[in-house]
This record gives sequence, C-alpha cells and structure tokens, in this order.
Amino acid sequence: MHFQENESVSMVRQMVRDFAEKHIRPDMMVWDEAQTFPIDVFKGLGELGLMGVLVPENYGGSGFGYYEYAAAIEELAKVCGSVGLSMAAHNSLCTGHILQFGNEEQKQRWLPKLATAEWIGAWGLTEANTGSDALRMKCVAHKDGNEWVLNGAKNWITHGISGDIAVVLARTGDLLDSHGITAFVVERGTPGFSGGKKENKLGMRASETAEMIFEDCRIPEENVLGNIGDGFIQAMKVLDGGRISIAALSLGIAKGAYEAALKYSKEREQFGKSISNFQAIAFKLADMATKIDAAELLIQESCDLKNKGKNVNKVSAMAKYYASEISVYCANEAVQIFGGYGYTKDFPVEKFYRDCKLCTIGEGTSEIQKLVISRAILKD
Ligand SMILES: Cc1cc2nc3c(=O)[nH]c(=O)nc-3n(C[C@H](O)[C@H](O)[C@H](O)COP(=O)(O)OP(=O)(O)OC[C@H]3O[C@@H](n4cnc5c(N)ncnc54)[C@H](O)[C@@H]3O)c2cc1C
Repeated sequence: MHFQENESVSMVRQMVRDFAEKHIRPDMMVWDEAQTFPIDVFKGLGELGLMGVLVPENYGGSGFGYYEYAAAIEELAKVCGSVGLSMAAHNSLCTGHILQFGNEEQKQRWLPKLATAEWIGAWGLTEANTGSDALRMKCVAHKDGNEWVLNGAKNWITHGISGDIAVVLARTGDLLDSHGITAFVVERGTPGFSGGKKENKLGMRASETAEMIFEDCRIPEENVLGNIGDGFIQAMKVLDGGRISIAALSLGIAKGAYEAALKYSKEREQFGKSISNFQAIAFKLADMATKIDAAELLIQESCDLKNKGKNVNKVSAMAKYYASEISVYCANEAVQIFGGYGYTKDFPVEKFYRDCKLCTIGEGTSEIQKLVISRAILKD
C-alpha cells in the first residue's frame, strides 16, 4: 500500500524493524522451540515506549494513536508473531481495560508500571468451558466487608503465569446476565492467585498462554474497575479495540510470508527458469498481494475511526475477520511456493504457517466476528 504515512508512524515502523532485527530475529526459533517467553524483549519494547503505545504521556506512555500501534504490531509480526501477540495482549487488553475504565487513582497506580514494562499485564475473560460463550463464566466474586473474594479459574490467558497484574472478569450477578459480570484488578503476589497449566501450542509458542487460578483470593474494593456489573460491557468494548491489533498482527504475518515467498520465487529455479515465471506461482503472488492490500485498507479504516473516537464494533470485526483469514491463506500459499523447503524450520514460512492460525481464534473466532458483523448490519 502506498498511502503516505505520517512521520510519527514511519518513525515507529523503522524503530520496530530495527529492534526486531537486532533483538528478536536472532533467537526467535530457539524461543519457539523451547516455548520461552522472552521477558527481556518486552522490557526492551518498554524502553522504546511500545508497552504503553496508547497510554497518554502523563501516565508514562507514548501517547500514540492506533496508526502507530498497528504499525508497531505489524512490524513485529513480520518477524515473530509471538512477540506481536504478547505486545498486543499487554497493550490492548490489560492496559487498555485500565486505561478505558479505570478511575484516576487506578490509572496513576497501574498505568506507569505497565507502560514501561516494569509490569507485564494479563487479561482474563476465557475459561475452560466458556470461550465464545463468555456470559456462562463460572469464576465468581462475592463481597465480604470491604473486599471481594474471587474463586475460579481463567484459561488460555496470555501471560497467565508471568503477568505481574491481571484484569479479571468474574461473575457478580446471575448466570447469562450481561450486567452480572465485574472487572477486577489482581496483582501478582495476592494470596490465592496463582498461575496454572501452561499450554503447549501449535504456534505463537514464545507467547505464554496459561491458566490463572483464584482460590479465596481477596481483592480490595478499590481494585474494581468501573461499576459493579459493567464488566462484560467493558470487555466487549476492550475487544472492539483489541481486534484492530489482532488484525495488524495477522497483516504482519501475511506480509512476512508474502515477502519471503516473493523473494524465493525469483531465486528458485526449476525447468531452467525461476518459478515466478510459472503462471501458477505468479497468480498465487497476485492473490496474496491483493488480499494483503484489502486487509490493510480495513485496518486503516478501523484505525482512523478509532482515533476519531467513533464506534469500531463492525469495522474492527471486519478487519480482524478478513485479515486473519487472509493471513492463513497467505502463509499456506507461501509454504506451497517454497515447496519442500517451506516445510522445514530452515525457512521462515514454516513458523508463519503455524503462528497465523491463532489469529482466526484469539479475541473472538472468525465465526464470532461474522456474528458481530451481521448483528451490526442487521441493526442498521
Ligand atoms: C494463544 C491464545 C491466547 C489467548 N489469550 C487470551 C487472553 O489473553 N485472555 C482471554 O481471556 N482469552 C484468551 N484466549 C482465548 C480465546 O479468546 C478463545 O480461545 C476464543 O475466544 C475461542 O474460545 P474457545 O477456544 O473456547 O472456542 P469455542 O468458543 O469453544 O469455539 C469452538 C468453535 O465453535 C465455534 N462457535 C462457538 N460459538 C459459536 C456461535 N455462536 N456461532 C458459530 N460458531 C460458534 C467457534 O467459532 C469455534 O470454531 C487465547 C487463546 C489462545 C489460543
């Protein structure tokens, strides 16, 4: 795409590219193999201001908008989706929830630590039996004096073990009542809060995904975000913005796979010529390039509307749905263009192929995005 980026977006893009080449690319396959969560990389991203991209400067953040945020995640994902995913979860979900719904005291207390990566954030909505169907959550909080007592577990949580702080959605009202859920901030070290099973994943292996367990975990009243019963509505709004970051993550993976395949197709010779001369390969590249540009347009529209404070419910779902699906498409075609070499860990497309699939699942599956989009269309 050749829209003129403003200076600030270009600066962030270049800064992230340099950082990723120096601090991520050399070790990413080692982290991937061992499922290592590279905490120092996130401290480094914090020093660059990328762990509080959207956080205003008075709370220790960079005060950027969504264009800079999407560009940063896209550039990380071109190299390593895992780092992009963790950065997105930290910024959009935990930090984003406190930024949007915390009171002044809460923002001053937690945002500077999150924005500088002194603390890594987690956000717990999903449970073992409730993913898409979050309103059926079992994790419960009941009031005892000036405290709330949390019991239950959250599963599939990015930074569920390593997170220093978590925003946790728990039931404070009736089952299936969208006003029966409340958001709590739980700091690591709080008695009754522990990390559980770490998932052994297909892709995004350097992004930690784990269980969070709450056993009579007592939370002071001042750790409630917003009003009692507003947690579910807040979470849906947090996800509306978060989906832009997963769309950008998808786009970065798609571009990384496409760029590697384009280069390889010009270098690899069969039947006496480079394989890019075969229409079958050239058409794959044409399809990939077209879909990538279309995804980018949806992301740009989402960023533009979000920066203007407009409702992005439909467009961010469209961007996330489309970008994640074309990410899977592009990674698949890239492996095909690489042939047997694409099936090995010696070339980057193998990792793109494994990482991209998360994008059609996390922060709402493609099917749930279609539900969101169709509801918005039918309501119009
Ligand atoms: C790597 C990773 C990181 C994650 N990080 C976090 C995190 O930080 N915090 C967090 O809270 N969660 C996190 N999640 C959880 C993620 O958001 C859920 O996996 C996702 O919402 C889907 O839920 P599920 O896995 O339970 O699938 P299910 O909801 O069980 O869905 C299974 C299938 O049924 C389909 N389906 C379900 N309901 C419908 C419907 N009404 N109509 C049509 N189809 C439907 C789905 O689309 C899917 O294909 C993470 C997941 C992964 C894999």
